[in-house]
Amino acid sequence: MPTAMEIYKLLPKKNCGECKFPTCLAFAMQLANQKVALEACPYVSPESKTILEESGAPPIRLVSFGLGGEPLKIGDETQLFRHDKTFYHPTVLGVIADDSEGLDRMKAKMEAAKAAAFERVGQRIRIDAVAVRHSSGSPQDFLEGVRHAAAMTFPVILMTEDPKLMAEALAMCTASKPLLWRATPQNLDAMVNVAKACAFPLAIGGAGSLDELSQLADKAKKAGVVDIVLDPGDSSAGKMLETLTIIRRAAVKKKFRPLGYPTMSVLGESVEDRMKAALGVMKYSSIVLMKEMPPESAYPLMTLRQNIFTDPQVPIQVKPGMYTVGEPNEKSPVLFTTNFSLTYFTVRADVEKSKIPVWLLVVDTDGQSVMTSFAAGKLTPESVAALIESEKVKEKSTRNEIVIPGMVSRMSGKLNELTGMKIVVGPRESSGLPKMLKSVAG
Ligand code: SF4
Repeated sequence: MPTAMEIYKLLPKKNCGECKFPTCLAFAMQLANQKVALEACPYVSPESKTILEESGAPPIRLVSFGLGGEPLKIGDETQLFRHDKTFYHPTVLGVIADDSEGLDRMKAKMEAAKAAAFERVGQRIRIDAVAVRHSSGSPQDFLEGVRHAAAMTFPVILMTEDPKLMAEALAMCTASKPLLWRATPQNLDAMVNVAKACAFPLAIGGAGSLDELSQLADKAKKAGVVDIVLDPGDSSAGKMLETLTIIRRAAVKKKFRPLGYPTMSVLGESVEDRMKAALGVMKYSSIVLMKEMPPESAYPLMTLRQNIFTDPQVPIQVKPGMYTVGEPNEKSPVLFTTNFSLTYFTVRADVEKSKIPVWLLVVDTDGQSVMTSFAAGKLTPESVAALIESEKVKEKSTRNEIVIPGMVSRMSGKLNELTGMKIVVGPRESSGLPKMLKSVAG
């Protein structure tokens, strides 16, 4: 965002107050702080407007597509390194259903992709999209595949370099707001016309070099396509990393607009492709498409993505308080852990394995794990005792006993003194809980 003085120089300097600010300088200051919109001044010249909009735009354009539920959002990233702040929009993962495989196989892959979802640390993660590709198969199978994808109400990417076939496919799934893949040096003008007619995002690729890719993107933008996704093409893992890093660096550090778009990697199914998919999730593919994504490849990839796209400054937390596992009663054991999501869900899963219903107290440690919060003084006998009191633990379980994590056995004496409860030191790792709970409850 430009400074207030840079904005002021581009304003009409009439000081008319129509923007609800007494002077143009006051308006410029508010605009620099993103408190008002440029449109509030009716007298900004078109040239100044273009300059201000360009300079105020994010370094990587936010692009959205796919209306099979929540639209998928990609781009709008501002960092080279996650630890500098955070990455915002998780890599979209998709499976390619290629018409060379025949319609039945295409449909089966789409259904499997939609079903591939699981819950981890309280979040639902899944494959996000299907890409229907026309390669050497029949155009009819391609169109039938598109029809099937649209009927699934799942985000779709249309993959053909034939503008006429693209227009036909588009007519079948307009409501899905698909991403169109792709415009190349050979079909740019025609594909741009298709994308402009529907105002859907367009992938640009097939270029011989990064320079050519940026020129194609610039040409498409000047022709009126605003939402662009860059496809630098398949290459070795090393080259892929280099290319995606150059694009991210040029966009974020140099504000080089022709490369200021989300990127995508279209991959096959080999072991190297799986490695490249992981690489793309880390640096810097906005979309990773794979020809095959079986569970043993998809699940680690989704887990990796979840780890990369969480805010490193904000641990994922669960709400502190009393939770139940199963249907505990007054004879059931009481345990406590912290409100760091990963800790909570790991403990919970291990308790569930025991099949013994328990009362599970979750202490507010600002999302820190047991050892970290104990060392930082956030997990104390006092904080545990206060929670036992506020959650009326002694009314819920009459055992007058609490199982504490083995790593904080040192708090036993003080906790016993504060609560009068018998303290049972649990295992150091929650994986030991099923065995231990059986002996405690038995
Ligand atoms: Fe200045 Fe425009 Fe505001 Fe008038 S409306 S004071 S010209 S910024």
